[in-house]
Amino acid sequence: MRRRLDQILASLGYCSRSEARLFLKTHAVTLRDSDGVLRDTSAKVDPANVLVDGAPLDHPEGILVVLNKPTGLVCSHDPREGPNVYSLLPPRWRARNPQVTSVGRLDKDTSGLILLTDQTALVHRLTSPKHKVPKVYRATVANPVPPEAVGLFASGSLVLDGEKQPCLPAQLRILNPNTAELTLTEGRYHQVRRMLASQGSEVLALHREKFGPLDLDGIEPGAFRELPINFFD
Ligand code: URA
Repeated sequence: MRRRLDQILASLGYCSRSEARLFLKTHAVTLRDSDGVLRDTSAKVDPANVLVDGAPLDHPEGILVVLNKPTGLVCSHDPREGPNVYSLLPPRWRARNPQVTSVGRLDKDTSGLILLTDQTALVHRLTSPKHKVPKVYRATVANPVPPEAVGLFASGSLVLDGEKQPCLPAQLRILNPNTAELTLTEGRYHQVRRMLASQGSEVLALHREKFGPLDLDGIEPGAFRELPINFFD
């Protein structure tokens, strides 16, 4: 689809719209099928056809990555909340509009799998409770999880403090006295920590291992892997 050149460059993080004129002066922006450089910021062009200094545009179709979040980073964009996961992305991706944002959130103290994308509709789709995407967490606990919690969590009758709606059925596996694996299909605030705390088990460390069909195989902490933009279609 053809769009204004300044809008394309700004949306992909090359420059702001007001900087587009200067950008065209300091970079060779050309089209694949013609020789001349583009000088008109309002030219309507197909992003797939545009070259900047001879290189195709950076992911004009959108960004979707699976990232292994280390602890200590937040998923919020608000700088007042501290260093964030977006600092692990290439600078140009951080300047995109719509912004690259996380699909749901992991707490600052939680590590593991987080999806990041600039596809707003995909964020809504994957976080909607309707879709019930299973997410697998491994929790290290201070006190063993009581075996009765397995049936209680599976029954869908656990009501967390301060809430009215019971949690959706969740699968709990007690792996050893210090470790439990919990599979949730929803994402309430601090849900894993609160569910386990309701059973007397304080979570000392929490790691998300899987999101739907995805895991972190081969992705080191702090690193990410790109996914095809239509991965979830
Ligand atoms: N549940 C939590 O308690 N924290 C997370 O980060 C994710 C799920």
